[in-house]
Amino acid sequence: MSKYLVFGHQNPDTDAIGSAIAFSYYLERKGEEAEPVALGEPNAETQHALDHFSLEAPRVVEQVANEVDRVALVDHNEPQQSVADVDKVQVDYVVDHHRIHGFNTANPLFYRAEPIGSTCSVIYKLFTEQDIDIPRAIAGVMLSAIISDTLLLMSPTCTDEDREIAEQLAKIAQVDLNEYGRQLLQAGADISDQSDFELVNSDAKSFELNGHNVRIGQVNVIGFDQIAERKEGILNAMNHEMEEEDFNLFLLVITDILENTSMGWVAGENPVMVEQAFAGTVKNNQIELPGIVSRKKQVVPPLTDAYNQL
Ligand code: MN
Ligand code: MN
Repeated sequence: MSKYLVFGHQNPDTDAIGSAIAFSYYLERKGEEAEPVALGEPNAETQHALDHFSLEAPRVVEQVANEVDRVALVDHNEPQQSVADVDKVQVDYVVDHHRIHGFNTANPLFYRAEPIGSTCSVIYKLFTEQDIDIPRAIAGVMLSAIISDTLLLMSPTCTDEDREIAEQLAKIAQVDLNEYGRQLLQAGADISDQSDFELVNSDAKSFELNGHNVRIGQVNVIGFDQIAERKEGILNAMNHEMEEEDFNLFLLVITDILENTSMGWVAGENPVMVEQAFAGTVKNNQIELPGIVSRKKQVVPPLTDAYNQL
């Protein structure tokens, strides 16, 4: 029996790291040897969750084929968002809640995806289906992942199942859901310690849209004032990334987590794609995105449609 490495996407968020920890525990309980790893350092929000529940941050890896033959992917499936050498290992498990895109395997696998608020909600269902009890710290990081992905159950990606699961996990984790949830989101919305480069990249994902390489980042804030003062530097960082990585478009979605609305900053050759997708105007590299909070449900689908009409 060889070990599994379990990991979420690049630029990991709390769900990527939380689901790696939770699904490793699940595999261990099923008699496998498994280790959670991460494709980057935890962000401030994730670190807050790990500290709160006295968990170690998963080891950061840049490749996996040098260590193992078999892996489990959580919170992603698109090869563009995975480890660089994912094509050199066998993917035996995927647990996810995203679109499936560009993902192929040579062998049969366990694949569980549901259109619900977080991968940790899907993993919670695996635990209950298999009658596996969840230790407090793991419940805590799973709860944190649901809070993070659903903006404390406010995002349109959040389902009644997520709400029910979050309440159950809060009991096991022994925290007040709303009080802990606000603390966690506030820890993630403190941008003062982050450089322009970090703000642009820490939650950015690449998408292949009709042959175009589109980068979509997201930053959580409380009020737009603080980040607005840094607009020039942040746009410079976005333009730098575009040139380095050959992106066709970079959209940074800046989400006010208290008001549940966003604005977008746009760099790239074709801001008209953003205008078409969101039926608005890009002025000074900026577009209003009223009521938009979910990249997965409210940003990627309209941009995909816009590119498909090219
Ligand atoms: Mn994620
Ligand atoms: Mn997720």
